[in-house]
Amino acid sequence: MWPYPELMFEQRMERVRQAMDHQGVDVLTLSVGPDLPWLIGYEAMPLERLTMLVVPRDGEAKLVIPGFEVPRVVERPGLFAVHGWGETDDPIAIVANMMAGAGSVAVGDHTWSRFTIALQQQVSGVQWCNAGVVTAELRALKEPEEVARLQRAADGVDVVATALRTGDIPLIGRTEADVSAEISRRILAEGHAAVNFAIVASGPNAASPHHHASDRVIQPGEVVLCDFGGVTSEAHGEVGYCSDITRCVYTGEPDPEFAEAYAHLLDAQQRAVQAATVGTPAENVDAVARNRLEEVGLGQWFLHRLGHGIGVEEHEDPYIVSGNTTPLRAGHAFSIEPGFYIADKWGARIEDIVVATDEGPLSLNTVDRDLAVVEV
Ligand code: ZN
Ligand code: ZN
Ligand code: ZN
Repeated sequence: MWPYPELMFEQRMERVRQAMDHQGVDVLTLSVGPDLPWLIGYEAMPLERLTMLVVPRDGEAKLVIPGFEVPRVVERPGLFAVHGWGETDDPIAIVANMMAGAGSVAVGDHTWSRFTIALQQQVSGVQWCNAGVVTAELRALKEPEEVARLQRAADGVDVVATALRTGDIPLIGRTEADVSAEISRRILAEGHAAVNFAIVASGPNAASPHHHASDRVIQPGEVVLCDFGGVTSEAHGEVGYCSDITRCVYTGEPDPEFAEAYAHLLDAQQRAVQAATVGTPAENVDAVARNRLEEVGLGQWFLHRLGHGIGVEEHEDPYIVSGNTTPLRAGHAFSIEPGFYIADKWGARIEDIVVATDEGPLSLNTVDRDLAVVEV
């Protein structure tokens, strides 16, 4: 697995430069955030000392970095040069210098405003834009190696979801927070470097899509919605890929009304997955699930978009949402996660990560999706 073939980074840099050309961006700057490790395999320390990759449309890319952090860098000759700065240097001036003559500069979407504003004060007469205009579309299209890493991430949380469904993770009598902590521990044990979230929403709490695990004690005879994910650990500090899955279980015999609604939800989710074919506009996939839920009277309770892209970031392009007319392409990876949320009553969501391929939609998560009944 390690390292990425050097060629992968070189091809990315090449595509980034083509996109810069296309968008009329003269200089691309990347600091903290996922764009940088995606592009060169180095992740900036999220500290006040500036780390910034400066990519001119033509010419060598330079990684401006605190001098004493230079040993952390895995050098990739031909891809970028390293420019260490001393404790008394002004790194903003160094970067500003490298931008001399640029008409338009893209700044990484996650770059701190303290750096961006300082740059804008030193560099005048430049048009500024987000680096996302260059990188988002490229990052959205996963290379086979990236799909393999997403699959590894999905496999990890699938193991945890299975433990949830089989009652290996006891629920009744425990607080949501306690269950959330156990899910988190298990995600790490399955080869993740970090847990991004572990939502456990029981009973009426399941009606809040982004509920955080609380001190509520899980009761017999209610739904428990668990939505969790993290980022895989990769060698050499390389950026990992994200997982994200939602499964619902019922503590005891399900309420027939809930079971019926859940069956419709599962049907809507599966129809949407099948609809996620290459060439289909993203918004049409959303519509498939939404229309289905509307037909059975649940549409008004489906409160959010159908899904989001996933990769080195938990939420990224392409968004599966009404208004996004972008046709799906082979390599797009995204969640399909319809739900219904009825305030003060209950809620449910079913989520898988799906990759559009020329052979059809490929669900990376494969754990059963029916409503599991656990008695513990
Ligand atoms: Zn979410
Ligand atoms: Zn999720
Ligand atoms: Zn999600």
